[in-house]
Amino acid sequence: MSMAASTPLSPGATIGILGNGQLGRMLCLAAARLGYRTHVYGPDRDSPAEQVATVATVAAYDDEAALAAFADAVDVITFEFENVPAQAAAFLAAHTDVRPSWRALEVAQDRTKEKTFFAEIGAATPPWRPIDSLDDLKTALNTIKPPAILKTARLGYDGKGQAKITNASDADSAWKTIGGEAVSSTRPYAILEGFVDFTREISVIAARSRDGATVCFEPTENVHTNHMLATSTVPAAISSAIAATACDIAVRAAVALDLVGLLAVEMFVAPDGTLLCNEMAPRPHNSGHWTMDGGGCDQFEMLVRAAAGLPLVTPMRTVDVTMINLVGDGIEDLERYYTDPTARVHLYGKAHARAGRKMGHVNIVRLKKS
Ligand code: AMP
Repeated sequence: MSMAASTPLSPGATIGILGNGQLGRMLCLAAARLGYRTHVYGPDRDSPAEQVATVATVAAYDDEAALAAFADAVDVITFEFENVPAQAAAFLAAHTDVRPSWRALEVAQDRTKEKTFFAEIGAATPPWRPIDSLDDLKTALNTIKPPAILKTARLGYDGKGQAKITNASDADSAWKTIGGEAVSSTRPYAILEGFVDFTREISVIAARSRDGATVCFEPTENVHTNHMLATSTVPAAISSAIAATACDIAVRAAVALDLVGLLAVEMFVAPDGTLLCNEMAPRPHNSGHWTMDGGGCDQFEMLVRAAAGLPLVTPMRTVDVTMINLVGDGIEDLERYYTDPTARVHLYGKAHARAGRKMGHVNIVRLKKS
């Protein structure tokens, strides 16, 4: 049921979403506002996205019959997380339009590919080396001196699969922490990355349409607690020149990937103002949730527009915003936010709060100062 590239999807058409977490949920809500139906696909029952989607398929990512039926039932497919199994994405791409491209997924799934890609587009990164063994790690530590961080190449997020190395003598325990002892066929297994003494962390989200038009949300300043995003604030306390460079990098990356959709890039701001790219995600991003109450088209609507072939609009911001993640027991702060007129509460419909589980977020809006 794929559409000709130049024809926008009409209201009533169905947007397929691979993955059924909170990003899928907010994508469904944005799609509904534009008159589209949504069909989410993922392995979990009563998921955040299933609760608000028009249709939900609960099936495994390797269930080819279910994937084929899903592809037949939708007009375009996008995804809400980058660790969609390669085979599932390739299988779907053979059946219908998948946006962004498989190439964007492939690069974002592997830190070695991601870092190499940043270098290819002329964007700086922290110094890094691919690591396949404890011996590799010990050798690399001669070049990338501690402090450094060892990260699994694939499937790490929110600090999972990472170990900080403060002294070269930490190599054995760091290798063990990231599961290196069990390494078999996965190559490359990890990267060693120099620890950056950054002044702040920012992220920026670019969007690209089917016809190649690009727009960029302004950078947000991010604070992490226990490796997980805690708050995102706009405007970031950076110069307009650094903000423009950050957007330029994200747009260049989106163009180089021939991506249709969103690309979020996380960066460290070094003391001299240099931007060092940490990682990227070809999907809506937690640090972009402020856009939901920022005053203009939000990141979820922007992705729906890109996937549906509608025009993108320049992001607009009418207020200053701090987005606060409600993680695990952070949900207890809700009472306070419910009575705060500057707080916009967004909950994800998850029944059980667990330590480290993102339950929702709150956007605190203030009159715009800059
Ligand atoms: P990541 O999973 O790579 O996004 O890492 C999670 C967080 O760990 C980042 O947002 C940073 O706060 C911190 N971090 C990761 N890599 C580095 C690095 N090379 N130098 C300093 N801090 C880092």
